Amino acid sequence: MASRSLVVVALGGNALLRKGQKGTPEEQWATARVAAESLAKIALNGVNLVITHGNGPQVGMILEAFESLPPERPRPSLDIANAMTQGWLGYLIAHSLTRTLRDKGVERETVVVATRVVVSKKDPSFKNPTKYIGSYYTREEAERLMREKGWVMKPDPRKGWRRVVPSPRPLHIIEHSLIKHLAERGAIVVAVGGGGIPVTEELEPVEAVIDKDLASSLLAREIAADKLVILTDVPGVAINYGRPGERWLSRVSVDELEGLYREGHFPPGSMGPKVEAVIEFVRATGKPAAIGRLEEAYDVYQGLKGTQITP
Ligand code: ADP
Ligand code: MG
Repeated sequence: MASRSLVVVALGGNALLRKGQKGTPEEQWATARVAAESLAKIALNGVNLVITHGNGPQVGMILEAFESLPPERPRPSLDIANAMTQGWLGYLIAHSLTRTLRDKGVERETVVVATRVVVSKKDPSFKNPTKYIGSYYTREEAERLMREKGWVMKPDPRKGWRRVVPSPRPLHIIEHSLIKHLAERGAIVVAVGGGGIPVTEELEPVEAVIDKDLASSLLAREIAADKLVILTDVPGVAINYGRPGERWLSRVSVDELEGLYREGHFPPGSMGPKVEAVIEFVRATGKPAAIGRLEEAYDVYQGLKGTQITP
């Protein structure tokens, strides 16, 4: 009997909070149910499924909520805020899947794994933090926060001043073998939320944000997944994106994609890390990867839609 394939599916932050939504619990459930409908189709196709997710908007919501408290009340550190979003979003995804599958007459275990990811203290990003998080401030407020809290703040090209934190490369997923074990047992596993909680080799928690696409790729390699699928809000990978000569790629070899990456088609912070993530996975495993739209998850997984990256 052929064993079931093991697939890692990464969800973008938008999959759980759409642009323009306030984020009421009703909106959160409605959005999670839409994502669960897409994911259920993959899970029902004889697949052992591990789901990862972003958390940018939700970490922002948590930090802002604490900022509105009186100054003497303590604030969570970034690693703790990340852990909060793993429980919160993991619950939304896992419970929506349980309900969606039950509506289809299927009982499947779902489980959320609070996931820690090892990073190096020597990562260059600690000397040059670049990842924007939380609210926007005026220059005067930013100067006060840098003095009082020791934050590093930079002007965000979009609006005002914002806190920036390091985004170190993920080196190792602490719970990877447990995640593999749970998935091979048939449970749908939600893990590595928000890129995982960063800790050093000595297990010291660190205030940083790991890119969720790079962490998902690392997990997929560490559990020897058969396919890595990255779901987002565009139909796939384009060259000359948003410019004359825009062309969406339906099938591309890893060599060809790497060439396009070097030509600068994929900006950091959006499509860049997704492309890097699939290149690393396909190179290391010789297995395929795909990038596509959440609503088309099943077809993207099957190789019918999105951008398919081949060894
Ligand atoms: P997610 O929350 O899913 O990680 P991101 O906003 O980080 O989503 O990345 C997806 C975005 O990348 C798309 O909405 C698109 O605007 C942008 N993008 C930048 N360059 C490209 C490209 N070459 N092809 C496709 N999308 C691109
Ligand atoms: Mg992103």
